[in-house]
Amino acid sequence: KLASREFNREDTVVRVRDVQIGGGTFVVMGGPCSVESMEQFRASAEIVKNSGATILRGGAFKPRTSPYSFQGLAEEGLKIMKQVSDETGLVTISEVMSGDMVPLVAKYIDILQIGARSMQNFPLLIEAGRSGKPVFLKRGPSAPIDEFLLAAEYVLSQGNPNVILCERGIVPLDRTYTRNTLDLAAVPVLKEYTHLPVIVDPSHGTGVARYVAPMAKAAMVAGADGLMIETHPNPKEALSDGSQALTTDKFTKLMDELRSLAGFL
Ligand code: PEP
Ligand code: MN
Repeated sequence: KLASREFNREDTVVRVRDVQIGGGTFVVMGGPCSVESMEQFRASAEIVKNSGATILRGGAFKPRTSPYSFQGLAEEGLKIMKQVSDETGLVTISEVMSGDMVPLVAKYIDILQIGARSMQNFPLLIEAGRSGKPVFLKRGPSAPIDEFLLAAEYVLSQGNPNVILCERGIVPLDRTYTRNTLDLAAVPVLKEYTHLPVIVDPSHGTGVARYVAPMAKAAMVAGADGLMIETHPNPKEALSDGSQALTTDKFTKLMDELRSLAGFL
């Protein structure tokens, strides 16, 4: 299999402009769940850049459980992301929800995110594989590791070697305390079986802002190649996932803690 360590002993390093994902560097992707306005996204980019993170996330097409919830700004959101990326130099990542939308998202965004709910949307995986862009593949909430790796195989087998894996939590026993169960054991398991970079998303993995920092640090200790973390200039006003978004202060503090923790490892 193309994802396996037998196929490739060297760690895959995905390079986007000056940013390197995998191969021993630790990368942080920060930004809001949804792009809400130019003002909100510029403020988010400032949080990310000032804290030393290098990749800016934002959702323009949102996979919401309810059709009545905010669905994202669509192409307008992508344009905002492109403009803010041009202004700040930050690399961008955003979700694409269907195969036919791949060219549109690829026109504005550096890294294509495949959401957890889409992990087995095979036509989408194939189109993303043909896009020429790095693909950030989130583990499905109910997907075993082998199915996660087979989903990555769909992208790789299109001739696209730039696949980044993301553990974002799996179906929990109940949702009283956390939104999902962050499977941190998946990190050393994946690092053993595949050469692809492994990123952890403790925001969706817990669903609770105050649990994000401890799990982010745990992910670094577990050997992850980086983190995806939701931030918001004003979480209370967020149009999606406000309860798990870190404020500017909390995100800045976490980034400082991660830097000192990295010094111990
Ligand atoms: C997101 O990143 O905002 C998102 C919807 O994540 P997931 O697909 O992991 O639920
Ligand atoms: Mn979200």
